[in-house]
Amino acid sequence: MTKLIFEKSSEHRSACDFPFVKEKNSIPKSLLKESNTSLGLPELSELEIIRHYVHLASLNFNIEKGLYPLGSCTMKYNPRINEDMAGLSGFSNLHPYAPQDLVQGALKLMYEVEQWLCELTGMSAVTLQPAAGAQGEFTGLKLIRAYHLDKGLKKTKILIPDSAHGTNPASSTLCGYDVQKVPSNSIGLLDIEQVSKVLDDDVAALMMTNPNTLGLFEENIVAIAKLLHQKNALLYCDGANFNALMGQAKLAEMGVDVLQFNLHKTFSTPHGGGGPGAGPVGVTEKLKPYLPLPRVIKEKDFYKLETQSQKSIGRLKGFYGNFGVLVRAYTYMRAMGQEGLKKVSQMAVLNANYIKHRLKDAYDLPYNDRPCMHEVIFSDKKQLKHSIKTLDIAKRLMDFGFHPPTVYFPLIVSGALMIEPTETESKEEIDRFCDAMIAIAKECESNPQKVHEAPHTTPVRRVDEVKAARNLILTYQNPTTR
Ligand SMILES: *Cc1c(COP(=O)(O)O)cnc(C)c1O
Repeated sequence: MTKLIFEKSSEHRSACDFPFVKEKNSIPKSLLKESNTSLGLPELSELEIIRHYVHLASLNFNIEKGLYPLGSCTMKYNPRINEDMAGLSGFSNLHPYAPQDLVQGALKLMYEVEQWLCELTGMSAVTLQPAAGAQGEFTGLKLIRAYHLDKGLKKTKILIPDSAHGTNPASSTLCGYDVQKVPSNSIGLLDIEQVSKVLDDDVAALMMTNPNTLGLFEENIVAIAKLLHQKNALLYCDGANFNALMGQAKLAEMGVDVLQFNLHKTFSTPHGGGGPGAGPVGVTEKLKPYLPLPRVIKEKDFYKLETQSQKSIGRLKGFYGNFGVLVRAYTYMRAMGQEGLKKVSQMAVLNANYIKHRLKDAYDLPYNDRPCMHEVIFSDKKQLKHSIKTLDIAKRLMDFGFHPPTVYFPLIVSGALMIEPTETESKEEIDRFCDAMIAIAKECESNPQKVHEAPHTTPVRRVDEVKAARNLILTYQNPTTR
């Protein structure tokens, strides 16, 4: 068991000596020692601290260790140059209330991120404020509500396909709407007939994820948008899966009115662990007046923040959103260029189809053998015969050095394994992953017990996941009562 840093502490040990304490007018050494002890902070040498954290980091899995194929999460590699740019002192030391003529570069950067997102989707304007995809959804729904109220329309319902991400119904409910589920058809798509059956005057919008969470392109999008617009309802697109469409087709031209991006998925900025992200929201012309404030606007060559607008839904987040994430995304866009971004989605789709092709004999493909987009969904149907479930397969993959894919989602696939390789993986790494998946499928027949008891090589074996969620204990020992 790894010891806590508090348990490794040894009195009067320290990571640095302050040479200046010997000089006149400096902080007395006694004061430093005393405050350290009274605060109860651990006392270790520099090497001990480094070893402690390097060891902890090595217990965890990360994209630098190997393939991280979490479907819908787009766990791709974030180039280091993004971090370098975000770390430039001109960005990282900015005060959000600095006078606008001193921060022209930062305002220009935000303005240009908006321009790029508009260009890629055909939307008219974008707000960069939301801190995550889910907050982007919430913002988008607020915009839809403001639009309808402004027109004197009282709408109460949001239609959501049964394949949707859980945040869609959650955001709708949080926004005060009732949610109505729309079933997908036998080939995993939204059906025009099913939508028209439930579409009435109370419907404010339909939330579509395209490509959907089965990794399939919603082919009826244009017809569905038309149907909605006839009833004064809007089409919201959850753009978290934009990695499949980027540079290929513009969602606004398919009839999408509101769209959220996940910069921390598509635009190569860090995510995971609840860290800062960015979920910008794009809108068409008719929803522009309701966008949150402040907004970056350009007058001649001067960038400024617009803080007043009659119809705005107001502010969604402190200051201007997670600015550091925007710098990373901007760096990524500029480094890739338009052609590069186009190539990203082509390679992401190619990689997923390659995996589908390599694994389709070993694993069940629940939605026929149609070309997929950026991710492919298998199920555990074939392995169930040997009493092996999706969870067992996922755990066994860890022994092969891979992060498991997303499991048991989307909910409409029983025992789903949702694999998204992303474009940043080489063919060699993808082949290694497929070889491991095929080896596991064989093991399910030859040695199911081994799969069932996996993982065998990780620092922590199988945990009781229900107990872990219900009886959350964040330390195994209270350091202050030591
Ligand atoms: C990731 C994701 C979200 C939520 O985004 P967060 O940034 O985690 O809030 C919503 N919808 C889909 C389809 C997603 O994949």
